Amino acid sequence: MQLLYVRYLANRPVDEIQCVAQTRRRHRCTIPLLTPESPAGVWTLVPNPAIHGQLPLHGAVMAVYALTHLPYAEQLRWRAQRCPKHAAIPTAADVAVAEWEPFDPLLHHDHIHTRLPTLTRRPGPTGRSRRAPQL
Ligand SMILES: [Zn+2]
Repeated sequence: MQLLYVRYLANRPVDEIQCVAQTRRRHRCTIPLLTPESPAGVWTLVPNPAIHGQLPLHGAVMAVYALTHLPYAEQLRWRAQRCPKHAAIPTAADVAVAEWEPFDPLLHHDHIHTRLPTLTRRPGPTGRSRRAPQL
């Protein structure tokens, strides 16, 4: 995942990353960060970071889910790991800390993929696919 110019490793697939805010019933919110209403990121291949003088592992590129084209507030929402509803309520407490780990090419080399993932998401009921604006 790439947001705010930093690469992070999530502890679960992109569409399963869950809000960390606390609901009024004191349970963790179950809404995912990626909702049908929110702008989606794009899978993209980026240069694989070289590791301290070594050649890059697994070839020259790696797949990341990039949010860098989203509005700044959306990227902050993702980094705070909040669903759109709780992003609008900054006073709601978090039950869990955000689960991002800064991506480390040495520690996380198993997560480096040189090809884009096969997307399993289907277009919504309207049949229109939601496309992020290209910059
Ligand atoms: Zn939430």
